[in-house]
Amino acid sequence: MEIDDTQEKGNGSEDSPESNDLIKVRAIITCPNGDYKKKFRNQFLRKEMEMMIVSFKVFDWLTCNKCGELLKLDLEFNI
Ligand SMILES: [Zn+2]
Repeated sequence: MEIDDTQEKGNGSEDSPESNDLIKVRAIITCPNGDYKKKFRNQFLRKEMEMMIVSFKVFDWLTCNKCGELLKLDLEFNI
């Protein structure tokens, strides 16, 4: 008789429903010269973190359309 116990189940990890995996982020884009500021909020699943970071990389090359300075992006995570 063989007992296959390679799959362990019921390890008591039921305390993390998917709703708890939601991360809220606030992005604030500002111009270092102070003539531009924009905030927006978003939320995403923890497993989508990498995708979200890639999408925010777009802002790395945004420039202020008033003075031409590179805009600064600040992210505030609410985990
Ligand atoms: Zn500016």
